[in-house]
Amino acid sequence: MASFDVINPATGASVGTVLNANADDARNAIEGAVAAFPLWKAKTAFERSNLLRRWRDLILKNEDAIARLMTSEMGKPITESRGEVKYAAGFVDWYAEEGKRAYGDIVPSHVANKRLLVIRQPVGPVYAVTPWNFPAAMVTRKVAPALAAGCTVVLKPAEQSPLTAVLLAELWIEAGGPADVFQVLTTADPVAVSEPFFADARVRKLTFTGSTEVGKLLYAQAARTVKRVSLELGGHAPFLVFEDAEIAAAVAQVMATKFRNAGQTCVCANRIYVHESIRDAFVAKMSDAVRALRVGDPTDDTTQVGPLVDRAGLDKVAAHVADAVAKGARAVVGGQAGQGLFFAPTLLVDVAAGMRILDEETFGPVAPVVGFTSEADVIAAANNTPYGLAAYLWTRDLGRAFRVSEALDYGIVGVNDGLPATPHAPFGGVKASGVGREGGRWGLEEYLDVKYVSIALP
Ligand code: NAD
Repeated sequence: MASFDVINPATGASVGTVLNANADDARNAIEGAVAAFPLWKAKTAFERSNLLRRWRDLILKNEDAIARLMTSEMGKPITESRGEVKYAAGFVDWYAEEGKRAYGDIVPSHVANKRLLVIRQPVGPVYAVTPWNFPAAMVTRKVAPALAAGCTVVLKPAEQSPLTAVLLAELWIEAGGPADVFQVLTTADPVAVSEPFFADARVRKLTFTGSTEVGKLLYAQAARTVKRVSLELGGHAPFLVFEDAEIAAAVAQVMATKFRNAGQTCVCANRIYVHESIRDAFVAKMSDAVRALRVGDPTDDTTQVGPLVDRAGLDKVAAHVADAVAKGARAVVGGQAGQGLFFAPTLLVDVAAGMRILDEETFGPVAPVVGFTSEADVIAAANNTPYGLAAYLWTRDLGRAFRVSEALDYGIVGVNDGLPATPHAPFGGVKASGVGREGGRWGLEEYLDVKYVSIALP
């Protein structure tokens, strides 16, 4: 099969076809990336910055086209897609500047005639693998720092949403970027296409965003040629609402973090722990908000919740709800699938330990609420998971804000903030949620090797 169809999850219709790359295409792409690396590395950071800025301008200029494409291939509400294009351009913008600040160090010497220098150099050709849930931002969050650092990149987007990545690569060329410096390989066979990258020691880095399950497989594969590795994996975010929280603000933010992208983000609140003394008030307010969500055609500007990305995604959400209900939970709003790949926004109460929804990433528009009484118990519950990506807490007590955010085993903590992600801050997880950070100066370090040069003076 030379090409494959990309399917619109809202309608079931084909959005377009893309090349179905195979292992030979992967080998060709590697040759291109390896050959282009010394030339790209030799450019000054200022030259690379100029190209990145032109790319950013074109991404912003094409905001509407990119947003529409993204919505049609994976079902994200159009207003969110427009926001994602700006977010994606934000990474290019930021790294266009940060690439100029890959400073070295001079270390004080222990002997009079030596000078000890530390310089930072690009790691080499990079293999990047991205998920479907942020088809633009997950691309630029990797590609922009890699290019700014002086690396060449071959990107393999998810098979559900490859069109956005292809368009971004076209805009890179339009900006004047060399074709072999940033290549996109679309494929319906990620295993066959990935193999040549893992076998080839000239590919010096793997950067992956996706599920923990696949991330573990690729981590092991990368060991064969000892590549540098960055992994942004699954999450299972707890959202803690203490008795002194401002309920209206906490509800507004839990709605934003839970139902964004139909609940399909790695930092979506997956478990909502509310202090018993305010639980009823919180559930009443949140029920109203969930009921008011506008579900429907994601191309409509007023739609807030679109379809799930595919049948497997929908089945998982339905299974989590069925399991919780069978074990005693109650759906106060929603609880059932809609037409096609839609699932009704759902609020579950009487949720208890032993239900799958409290142990696994749901990746859908379902909010389970659990009561708690003590700070120590809720911290223990929040940390009782293999995941460690994002956590949230709501309180007006400054001591508690520090105490709890320091005690949570997570890479990102939002204190009275449901949407902490931004291009200039570090994003990433601990434990089974990953290795390394993207965003900010930390994201650039992932693509730089440290070289120590010791000079003995004659
Ligand atoms: P996925 O792991 O199924 O797929 C991710 C990518 O890996 C896709 O490009 C896919 O084609 C590729 N892939 C799958 N199997 C492969 C294999 N055996 N060899 C090589 N490549 C393979 O994840 P998904 O369903 O696309 O995305 C959802 C997941 O991504 C969720 O778990 C979510 O939490 C996670 N995610 C994490 C972050 C983060 O920053 N931590 C951000 C977004 C999404």
